Amino acid sequence: MVEASLPGPTRRRRALVLLGAAGALLFGGTLALSAMPVSVSAAPATDVVVPDEGVVGADFPPTVADGLVDDGMPLTISNTSAPAIARLDPDLRRALTEAQAMAADDGIRFQITSGWRSEAYQRWLMTEAIATLGSEEAAREIVAEADASSHVTGRAVDIGNLDAQEWLEEYGRGWGLCRTYANESWHFERATSPGGDCPTMKTDARG
Ligand SMILES: [Zn+2]
Repeated sequence: MVEASLPGPTRRRRALVLLGAAGALLFGGTLALSAMPVSVSAAPATDVVVPDEGVVGADFPPTVADGLVDDGMPLTISNTSAPAIARLDPDLRRALTEAQAMAADDGIRFQITSGWRSEAYQRWLMTEAIATLGSEEAAREIVAEADASSHVTGRAVDIGNLDAQEWLEEYGRGWGLCRTYANESWHFERATSPGGDCPTMKTDARG
């Protein structure tokens, strides 16, 4: 569906990059929302960092050092050699580690598709989103600005697998972990005290 809805290889590549990194809901429309990260991250790794010459936003392909997580190879919370995990806020990492230990009893492993990101990586995501969607307004619905993103401060993770998303949404607040965006079933932050109630979700990245 992603391929068919785009005009050519350049735009398709950009769309895959964006979908893989941001979790995403663009193509195929809102119907693609819930299980998107897993199926999207199955895209070949060659789709990730191929620069488009002369195209705005293609000048900075993010690397592992920027917090990039390889498509199709999600991390676990114990992968502390990866900057995406190592540079998470210590309290968030501790909460996720403890929650993961409990979830493991239910046979669930949190597959982390994005954690900490550099500011440059976040700016790149925004530029890619604008180029793909055609307007800043549309882009801001799915990508936060670099100075507002909780990924840049290390205070958010994206969870790719649906069973883990559902587990965290049900039990995560025991560790203060909450889903914070109504349009992102995969995005979790520490947003309450352990055992507290999660705040009302924001509509999208603008909220
Ligand atoms: Zn996120």
